[in-house]
Amino acid sequence: MGKVTPPAVGIIDRLNDILNEVLAYIVVEQPELAARVHKDMIVVEGKLLVGPTGAWFDVYDVLLVFLPGFPNVEPLVWEVASRVPRTADRHVFPKDGNCCLGVWEEWLICAPSHTVADFMSSPLQSYFESQTYFEMHADWPYGQRSHGIQGVVEAFADVLGVAPRLDLVRDHLAVLAREHHKGHHVCPCGSGRRLRKCHLEQVRAMAGRVSPNMARRMLEGLPKDQPS
Ligand SMILES: [Zn+2]
Ligand SMILES: [Zn+2]
Repeated sequence: MGKVTPPAVGIIDRLNDILNEVLAYIVVEQPELAARVHKDMIVVEGKLLVGPTGAWFDVYDVLLVFLPGFPNVEPLVWEVASRVPRTADRHVFPKDGNCCLGVWEEWLICAPSHTVADFMSSPLQSYFESQTYFEMHADWPYGQRSHGIQGVVEAFADVLGVAPRLDLVRDHLAVLAREHHKGHHVCPCGSGRRLRKCHLEQVRAMAGRVSPNMARRMLEGLPKDQPS
């Protein structure tokens, strides 16, 4: 037998907290899901009921994995009955077959709170509601984002309130990644003017929503140049 290293105590505590949150949610909202600790993850399996509680209109076989870093670390989600095709245009990552629930940083910035219940009642439900809608209409219900890098650019542009262009998004994030926004810096809007004579107020408002750490994390998720 290989050597098994038990998770550190802090991780066990965190896993127990997540497990308790999941159990408290599913006992009321998702009676056909079950949750357990597996290694250093929380695994949730079973039938996900889709739609308003008690007025569900669809059901999917799912596997969800929460890591101890939740909510900073995005949970992984699989539809396991091969009902949703494993293709990018259906928002499934073809390589690993897991679901693309949207741009995680956008949810971290825009959602008012980030509990397990928030995740399961919003991004997770919306994803499968959209899949059901797509099966019926061959289209997405809420003008779905692009999949892949362009979708990330669109999401970040929405968060920042700028046009969905990679260069513009990167330039704004580079400014937000700094701790201070001095008026003599060049404005990221591309005007060539100093911040103080251009978008200083707007940049300060963005900085109130996007911390320097978050801006760095977002930059790391973007390529340097527009992919062709
Ligand atoms: Zn996608
Ligand atoms: Zn400007």
